[in-house]
Amino acid sequence: MSRTPVIAGNWKMNLTSESSVALAQGVANYQGQPTSRKCCVFPALVHLSAVAEAVAGSAVSLGAQDCHEADGGAFTGEISAAMLKDVGVEVVLSGHSERRHIFCEDDSRVAAKSAAILEAGLDLMLCVGETLGEREAGNTFQVLDRQLGVLSDFGAFVERISVAYEPVWAIGTGQSATPEIAQNAHAHCRAVVEGILGGEAAASMPLLYGGSVNSSNAEELLAQEDVDGALVGGASLDIENFGPILDAVPNV
Ligand code: PEP
Repeated sequence: MSRTPVIAGNWKMNLTSESSVALAQGVANYQGQPTSRKCCVFPALVHLSAVAEAVAGSAVSLGAQDCHEADGGAFTGEISAAMLKDVGVEVVLSGHSERRHIFCEDDSRVAAKSAAILEAGLDLMLCVGETLGEREAGNTFQVLDRQLGVLSDFGAFVERISVAYEPVWAIGTGQSATPEIAQNAHAHCRAVVEGILGGEAAASMPLLYGGSVNSSNAEELLAQEDVDGALVGGASLDIENFGPILDAVPNV
């Protein structure tokens, strides 16, 4: 089964409203109107509406980096999935390593947020990945099995789910996983998805790699059989770097 590659830019807590709009326009122009690759950008929450306008009518989807799991209520400073949908968001990250490790979000929180995202009608990009200590202890697959376990409740939503394998030791360090390490982990993730949601879901679910992807390593990483795209942090912050990563996937 063929899977449409996805190249995603996670802008984290960077850029101004003006520079977010300029970058979004640059990405939209670069992306053009391809049929063979998807592209999405994840600006800071406060810039979502401005970026929604900038990518309207283009082949770039709007993503949000986080949301709260409740529908609404007394949660000062938080944003619900329905609020994100209301401003044009199509896809939301859940389980990003910075949320797990800096903001102490455990698997049950990730599961609750993921459910809220899917139930609001949005796409879910579930991030998973092991720390360096977990890898060195030989526990990578065990961690991935546990983190992917949240998918067991989402059988009704498989068409709206993608997974980003992001080894924590590779995020923001400049030390990407080798293509072999990425392929190995992705093949394992696909087998786990098959065990949880069945063969059809596993064959159709995009599995993105994230962790120090740049214009020099993107092509080799994306050439791996089970690597269906890239979630890019630092190198997504300007079109000079992000454009060539998009180009690593043929635009036909
Ligand atoms: C990320 O934050 O999802 C990420 C992959 O960051 P970077 O590309 O900077 O490692």
